[in-house]
Amino acid sequence: MRLLMKNLQKINYFSSPLAWDQKLGKILSRHYARQWSSFTEYLSPDATKDMRDLRMNRLILRTYKNVPAYSVHYREAHIDPAQVRCEADLRLLPCIAKSDFKKYAMNNISCFASDIPKTHAYANSTSGSTGEPFQYALDMRYANEKTVLRYRYWNRAGITMSEPKIFCAPKSALFLVPNLIFLHPHFFRARKKEYIERIRTSKAEVLFGFPLLVFDLLWALAEENIDLTFRRAVLAGHSVSPGIRSFLKKRFECEMFEYYGTGETGSIAAECEIHNGLHIQEENSIVEVIDDQGKPVPDGISGKILITSLSNEIMPFIRYDPGDKGMILPDRCPCGRTSKRIVVEGRNNEFLMLGKNGEIISPSILRGVLDQYFNHFHRYQMVQETIDHFVLNIVPVVRLDKSEERKLLEKLYECMGQTANVSIQYVKKISPLRGGKFQYFVSNMWSRKFPDGFFSNIPIEQQSLALQRRRGR
Ligand SMILES: [Zn+2]
Repeated sequence: MRLLMKNLQKINYFSSPLAWDQKLGKILSRHYARQWSSFTEYLSPDATKDMRDLRMNRLILRTYKNVPAYSVHYREAHIDPAQVRCEADLRLLPCIAKSDFKKYAMNNISCFASDIPKTHAYANSTSGSTGEPFQYALDMRYANEKTVLRYRYWNRAGITMSEPKIFCAPKSALFLVPNLIFLHPHFFRARKKEYIERIRTSKAEVLFGFPLLVFDLLWALAEENIDLTFRRAVLAGHSVSPGIRSFLKKRFECEMFEYYGTGETGSIAAECEIHNGLHIQEENSIVEVIDDQGKPVPDGISGKILITSLSNEIMPFIRYDPGDKGMILPDRCPCGRTSKRIVVEGRNNEFLMLGKNGEIISPSILRGVLDQYFNHFHRYQMVQETIDHFVLNIVPVVRLDKSEERKLLEKLYECMGQTANVSIQYVKKISPLRGGKFQYFVSNMWSRKFPDGFFSNIPIEQQSLALQRRRGR
């Protein structure tokens, strides 16, 4: 065993995580991998890149051979993947997006590797923020590696994995982290007393979830003049405005750490204690930024984000376009970690809807219900027409029958509260919003609840005044 460990320690865990798991067993492997994960943060960029190139080459060749959708995708672009030897060559390959995966699936061209047993796949569905649901599969053989990298950013924030955390996000993400206390965002006001009691009893000092949902919870607590404080908040899902960050710090003494990821690729980058950009997890992710013509842009210039995840051989994501914009920061972080940092810009329109009783309604939670219909909907969009009436526009693949419609509405009412009224409407197409972006919900009512401009960079003094005014009403 000692000899085995000695040999394994010569090989960076992130060069071949599966080999470590196979040789040591998952528990022991994860234990040593965590040590590697604190070490590799400070490796020279070239050393990290050498390690990544090995995995990237293997992944690309395997994918071309065994995943029919990619074989077609690369042949149509007249590309021989054997030409890709290092990261700089990645740009030879065409990008791939959700719409490509959907197109191949509809033409019965498989997006899954034929040489890996299906038992290693975990199937899920997502529509991101566009209302275009698609199904993907995660490669569970790499779950250990992803857990190790996820633990690393919790460690960075000074949070232990076992400590209790208040959780405000779609319930479907509950499995990600242990010891989460789920507070349903649609009932912060209706169940305020119960939730305050649960927070007190749990002694939780950490918040985890979507920024606006966590913010709405804290706003509800602040309105009650509650003396609770929180040590840390770990937030993701959309960009956090400086106004929210400042509110958390000044009102709840809470330091915020943001991370970036998608359901299909897992976490990609996370903030450090300097709070200036997010360090990319370069051990298993390659992030590129390109312009509208597909050409790489220099660091410091904003463009479209492409992600290559090295931890999914079952349904690979190679130069995948998740629909986000951002830029890579041009210099190294003063914290000493050597990875590049990214600023993500394209996720700042994840807003909310407003219920009749003053509760916010989170579209991301409704998405959990609607994305299950990826076989039925090409695209959907929920529009809030009045305070208690919503229209669900659907571009159907197949129309739901009456009993399926009833079931869908029941699921929506269960999570929106019974005061809402939703009509289903089948349409031929849903147009993008002004600016060209598809958005899966439309409402301009939610922000009435909060002071104007709160979600931009406004001084905390103005926030306190606004809160006092509201309390005085
Ligand atoms: Zn840093």
